Amino acid sequence: NADIAMYRAKERGRNNYCFYGPEMDHHARRRLTVESELRRALAGGELEAHYQPQVDLATGALTGAEALVRWRHPERCLLLPGEFIAVAEETGLIVPLGEQVLRAACRQSTRWREAGRPDLKVAVNLSGHQFRQHDLVEQVCDILAETGAHAAQLELEITESVAMADADGSVATLAGLRRQGIALAIDDFGTGYSSLSYLKRFPIDTLKIDRSFIQGIPADGDDTAIVQAIIAMARSLRLSLLAEGVETPAQREFLVAQGCRSGQGFLFGRAMPAEDFHHIIARAAAAG
Ligand code: C2E
Ligand code: MG
Ligand code: MG
Ligand code: MG
Repeated sequence: NADIAMYRAKERGRNNYCFYGPEMDHHARRRLTVESELRRALAGGELEAHYQPQVDLATGALTGAEALVRWRHPERCLLLPGEFIAVAEETGLIVPLGEQVLRAACRQSTRWREAGRPDLKVAVNLSGHQFRQHDLVEQVCDILAETGAHAAQLELEITESVAMADADGSVATLAGLRRQGIALAIDDFGTGYSSLSYLKRFPIDTLKIDRSFIQGIPADGDDTAIVQAIIAMARSLRLSLLAEGVETPAQREFLVAQGCRSGQGFLFGRAMPAEDFHHIIARAAAAG
């Protein structure tokens, strides 16, 4: 498939990931080191958003990207969220981190629009801390204004557990974001404990089916049954679906056959620097 080859063509060796370091095995010391270095990283612009393609599963057409944070650590290399997100959550640094990622993602969406792709959405993860800030809606609006981004190009993701932690508060916050024209998604769907009655009340647009269920399809009977159930439920609640972690053509075919429209995963491309993602758009535009 030409589209798949296209999104993956840019994958090269210059974004090798690494771990925080074997000397960092003592939990408390590691936490302190990560915390102080993260403060420096936030002040010094070491955090970057990378963009993972989201596609129409049936046609392979690009529909947008999820912004995923990476840390270009000066002495180590490119660190993945698994190395530092937990410490950011524990220390509250996730709030300024998330704001930087949101700002960067909005800036890119403006660039994509100016390159002739107002249809491309950028999805940004919101942590629980961010989501529960009383002035979240104003903050997001300020960032949209500052970056020239359109609300219609933005999607915000929260997990089921974040949404359910204060379900009534979540309904209000989600409604506030929705009123601005921002799309909303539940991330890692199926791993939390959403009650179906709340799922109905949350003003959301999309369920992102967790990668752990996609892994087993179509061979594993349990995963297949769960994915089918989620697809049926989304259909009756009139929610859009996106499958996370699509890695094989067989998974893609199964999802298309079951009626899941959108997907994201290594089959289509990994998260890549903003420049590389922009090249894909520019090249597709040039190709007509
Ligand atoms: P997530 O939001 O569920 O993002 C999807 C994760 O799955 C990403 O991992 C992505 O690289 C990975 N992934 C995508 N396709 C595949 C696939 O086909 N196979 C496999 N094995 N993995 C795939 P990543 O970038 O390491 O991020 C992990 C988590 O860190 C994210 O999960 C999200 O919960 C969190 N995160 C990332 N960026 C941010 C951010 O800016 N703010 C907040 N609050 N959390 C973030
Ligand atoms: Mg996500
Ligand atoms: Mg997810
Ligand atoms: Mg996750």
